[in-house]
Amino acid sequence: MDNCIFCKIISGEIPAKKVYEDDLVIAIEDISPVAPVHLLVIPRQHIVNSLDMRQEHEGLIGRVFTVAARLAREKGVAEEGFRIVNNNNAGAGQSVFHIHFHLLGGRSLQWPPG
Ligand code: AMP
Ligand code: ZN
Repeated sequence: MDNCIFCKIISGEIPAKKVYEDDLVIAIEDISPVAPVHLLVIPRQHIVNSLDMRQEHEGLIGRVFTVAARLAREKGVAEEGFRIVNNNNAGAGQSVFHIHFHLLGGRSLQWPPG
């Protein structure tokens, strides 16, 4: 998708600190971290957000969660607790309109979120 920053990261046009990749997803370090561990798990396919999900994407979302869990363990935040966050539309804080899942950990996380 033209003018999509995450599509450009996936294609290699824009650099990013990649921590994982496979056939369906990549994971990168967030450029503006809000927690000691702040990764983004990003499907390769340009899907706008959860409202754009179709039945054919169900396997892909399973992959997102197995990868996020693996990265939480690798980064040492699995036992203490971590959060997987997906913002949908601007009112919820979505700023990049290519679906992605924040993996946040390494500090105490308040509930409810702001
Ligand atoms: P959201 O606000 O939920 O759409 O999340 C988008 C996230 O992408 C934010 O946490 C940004 O800091 C992050 N971000 C934006 N541009 C880049 C980039 N070039 N590399 C890594 N992370 C980015
Ligand atoms: Zn995209």
